[in-house]
Amino acid sequence: MKKGILVVISGPSGTGKGTICNRILSEMDNIEFSTSMTTRDPREGEIDGVHYFFVTKDEFEKAISEDAFVEYADVYGNYYGTLRKEVNARLDSGTDVLLDIDVQGAMNVMKDYPKETFIFIRPPSLEELEKRLKGRGTDSAEVISRRLSEAEHEISLADEYGYQVVNDDLDEAVAEVKKIICEEHDKKAR
Ligand code: ADP
Ligand code: 5GP
Repeated sequence: MKKGILVVISGPSGTGKGTICNRILSEMDNIEFSTSMTTRDPREGEIDGVHYFFVTKDEFEKAISEDAFVEYADVYGNYYGTLRKEVNARLDSGTDVLLDIDVQGAMNVMKDYPKETFIFIRPPSLEELEKRLKGRGTDSAEVISRRLSEAEHEISLADEYGYQVVNDDLDEAVAEVKKIICEEHDKKAR
């Protein structure tokens, strides 16, 4: 049985990672999303166990002590982590796994799994990123300004990734990411 590939989608908050991941999941076969655990509060419409596993800080720290995570990070004051149970069984059974994680998390996965597929999603510009964060309407002005000030540093790390895709026109960005996944799958499914 060939194993699946791990596809890590990363980049600044508001750059369109979630939007691109949703398109990938609805348009491609044989790839599933790894639902992360987080201590942040659910946004309107978010479902526990689908978008995230929403837990308390104590519950998250218990999971850390049980070595439940492939990686975890403190992102803008909340914990977020990739659960081993979301990733390993799928890869073993030949299903590709999609992660939507922040840049520090991606760097940690890169250290442990350097041969996996890392895609940095770039915003067309910082001005456009600010527009998208504001337009999404899910975060306070304070949270948005924190996310924007992180974005510049995050973009400076883009060259560490195997692939970079600019999310200007959404359809084009989705097509590029799909092409990368197909090619890596054919090359690496093992
Ligand atoms: P992330 O998951 O990276 O934080 P989202 O997927 O939530 O980002 O996207 C942030 C906002 O930008 C959303 O309102 C989304 O609809 C919008 N968006 C995503 N991609 C594009 C694009 N190519 N052009 C214009 N707006 C976009
Ligand atoms: P949001 O709060 O907007 O859903 O996500 C904030 C940031 O956390 C995004 O950049 C998202 O990619 C990242 N994130 C989501 N899940 C994880 C995870 O499991 N690990 C890490 N390191 N980052 C995550």
